Amino acid sequence: MVELIDNEQTDYDIEVDTVVVGAGACGMVASLLLAEAGIDTLLLERDDTPRGSTSMSSGFIPAAGTLLQESAGVSDSAELFAADIQRKANAEADPQIVSAVTQSCGKVLDWLQQQHGLEWVLLEDFLYPGHSTHRMHAVPEKTGAALHARLSNAVERAGVSIATSARVVALIVEPAAATKPVQICGVRVRRPDNSSETIKASAVILACNGYGANSALMKRFIPEMAEAYYHGHPGNTGDAVIWGELLDAALVHTSAYQGHGSLAYGHNILITWALLMEGGVQINQRGQRFSNEHKGYSEQAVEVIRQPGDFVWNVYDHRLHAMGQNFPDYLEAVAAGALVCADSVSELSDLTAMPLTDLQKTLQEIEQLASVNGTDQFGRQFNSDQILQAPYYAIRVAPAVFHTQGGLAIDHKARVLTTEGDIVGNLYAAGGAACGVSGSSVAGYLSGNGLLTAVSLGAIAATDIGSARGVDPIIPACQIVIPDERPAG
Ligand SMILES: Cc1cc2nc3c(=O)[nH]c(=O)nc-3n(C[C@H](O)[C@H](O)[C@H](O)COP(=O)(O)OP(=O)(O)OC[C@H]3O[C@@H](n4cnc5c(N)ncnc54)[C@H](O)[C@@H]3O)c2cc1C
Repeated sequence: MVELIDNEQTDYDIEVDTVVVGAGACGMVASLLLAEAGIDTLLLERDDTPRGSTSMSSGFIPAAGTLLQESAGVSDSAELFAADIQRKANAEADPQIVSAVTQSCGKVLDWLQQQHGLEWVLLEDFLYPGHSTHRMHAVPEKTGAALHARLSNAVERAGVSIATSARVVALIVEPAAATKPVQICGVRVRRPDNSSETIKASAVILACNGYGANSALMKRFIPEMAEAYYHGHPGNTGDAVIWGELLDAALVHTSAYQGHGSLAYGHNILITWALLMEGGVQINQRGQRFSNEHKGYSEQAVEVIRQPGDFVWNVYDHRLHAMGQNFPDYLEAVAAGALVCADSVSELSDLTAMPLTDLQKTLQEIEQLASVNGTDQFGRQFNSDQILQAPYYAIRVAPAVFHTQGGLAIDHKARVLTTEGDIVGNLYAAGGAACGVSGSSVAGYLSGNGLLTAVSLGAIAATDIGSARGVDPIIPACQIVIPDERPAG
């Protein structure tokens, strides 16, 4: 239960300049920047050991114009990246926010590399659906857990004050007066032993992600997946959205989310979409294909949940099995015994219980399409250099919700906006707590939109707080350009 408390009735235990709520990628990037600027910051995390959805993720962050892209000879720009985001989001994303995040994300990654020693690798094995060029960055381990660990180390080295087992249960509010809008003055924290502390702050950044773990909010905002398995962090209980409604803040695109159509059934391990982008197919238990896998893994969650038994099979071959081994999650699935391998279609039918005649027909159809670089009835194009060959591999997969993409309305400086379009004083929302750049539906999620907005909006919020205190820019290597006034339109 989270609430608002009146400032007039609050005795404060301590005072800091800025409170950051949530120690995922967003909260840690924001705290790092604030600490470097010498701004007294307290990072509050409800778990005893911070993890967040960040540490469950694959840790792939899309960014344009990075040093790494330059050294790899990849030509990219914030404008091209923004166009890819809007194409996927059906042009529903706020153009100012898209521009702010696409311009800043590369600078944030370069700054993390140069200032904090985070190493990046560029994922060039295959192009993620919807991206026009290779811009997916990861730490060398290629896992979200390693990304989170590296950020945590940087936060520790920078001397950021962090309190764990500290759930923020209330925002402390100075109500709106005739000439002054509503203002946030601090937060109240509840400890596991039920004790509480009140903290006065001049700014609060909500970096506590979305509402994937709140079944009531999921039923209300995303009924199509309310019964689906939620594969994100259990601490993402929608606190930001609940405070937002109490504050009369605007909520935007609450029906948007990142789904995924490829989680190993019974093992809950993410199976890389690269298998399907490079020639593999999804086949249902009747032995039939049912959609264009190349549209994206997010919307495929809805296609998969409509199939008999709510599961399907990823079917591919040895070439793709070899490629899958570049992904730690895939290796985990192999070790867990999630794969079946068959020397022939008939053995594949025996091992998966897909009817032989239908399976044979489906595989023959895609072979014929591939041999002529043809396009199927769903709009997927097959390539002659990707014809599947025995031995065949298959993994039974189920759909899932990974995280929600709607949330608090913010401006281009990550300041929370009311339903009237006014700024809620001293309150910022970033990462999964704020509305993202994926439009209003599952289909609008471009790969990497989650960490893109976590990392860049966290940095933008911190930069604005720095500017307000005369530290502008906070770090020369991270010169995020934020126009003073929100452009019209
Ligand atoms: C399996 C999986 C794979 C994914 N892969 C990718 C990927 O490769 N690329 C990508 O871009 N995105 C990916 N995502 C999405 C990505 O993980 C999220 O978008 C991103 O981590 C959000 O970061 P965040 O900092 O906003 O939230 P989080 O990392 O979830 O951090 C929020 C923190 O806030 C804490 N918190 C919540 N409420 C409170 C409170 N009241 N008080 C104190 N603390 C609180 C939580 O405990 C949590 O630690 C993936 C997600 C999943 C589940």
